[in-house]
Amino acid sequence: MKIILASPRGFCAGVRRAIEIVERAIQKFGTPLYVKHEIVHNKYVVEDFKQRGVIFTDDISVIPDGATIVFSAHGVSDSIIEQSKNKNLQIIDATCPLVTKVHREVKEYDEKGIEIILIGHKGHPEMDGTSGKIKGKYTIVETLDDVENLNIQNPANVALATQTTLSIDDTKAIVDALLLRFPDIVKHYKSDICYATQNRQNIVKDMVHEITKLIVVGSKESSNSNRLRDIGTENNIPSFLVDRASNLDLSFFNKDDTVGITAGASAPENLVWEIIDLLREHFNAIIENAKTGFEEDVVFHLPKIVRM
Ligand code: SF4
Repeated sequence: MKIILASPRGFCAGVRRAIEIVERAIQKFGTPLYVKHEIVHNKYVVEDFKQRGVIFTDDISVIPDGATIVFSAHGVSDSIIEQSKNKNLQIIDATCPLVTKVHREVKEYDEKGIEIILIGHKGHPEMDGTSGKIKGKYTIVETLDDVENLNIQNPANVALATQTTLSIDDTKAIVDALLLRFPDIVKHYKSDICYATQNRQNIVKDMVHEITKLIVVGSKESSNSNRLRDIGTENNIPSFLVDRASNLDLSFFNKDDTVGITAGASAPENLVWEIIDLLREHFNAIIENAKTGFEEDVVFHLPKIVRM
């Protein structure tokens, strides 16, 4: 068996920052520490924090007045901020700065009275947060059919923003369809898909011609990990999204496979190596090469409240 390892893979700057914020908040404020939603969509990371006294919840009402709350990397709506303030919670905001950028965009459109189309997954916490910044009219579209069925009050006064972790190709198709229907649509960027999502998808697209199977390390809830798995599936490569080595069904693999391995933006690197070790043990797998793309050097500053 041969392994082709994608690079870049795994943690992005937003996830590193969010995890570091929780680490520092534990040190500075102790536990129990409350986090709105899973800090990042990774079971391993969340379980580790739970063991150390962090309580993850989507329901602000269960948090005792005056406690400390961390908002997850996905961002939160204005109503969550308001509820937190009403309970005198000490707020530490771990929203990824690239999500905050989208929040600023939609607020700007909203304040100008522009109707907003959001491309993203309904019910995903990032979309809940972004749509929750809008006081006026907005619609979330996920598919080309949604674009077809859109009912916009004034097509000359409409703007566009997207979730950060979407499929580049699907989003382009939806943006093109929107531009056909609403040529005057206002948009700051072609899409708001972040650098980490784009880099990880581009490397997997490069890989699919050289591999017979694809393993994506990441949790089912992770949007960007699912999109990586989709690229494999769309290219007829049997593709597996797994949290860690113990979730991998080895009966799908054989010694003649060339296996591509990547990891979603919220998946820790040690879980990638757990899988490599498992494949080495069972199939004498060797790492043939690393598929290397764009070098990532993005770093986001921590909020003042956790800087010692
Ligand atoms: S995937 Fe992108 S938007 Fe999400 S936390 Fe990472 S850098 Fe930020």
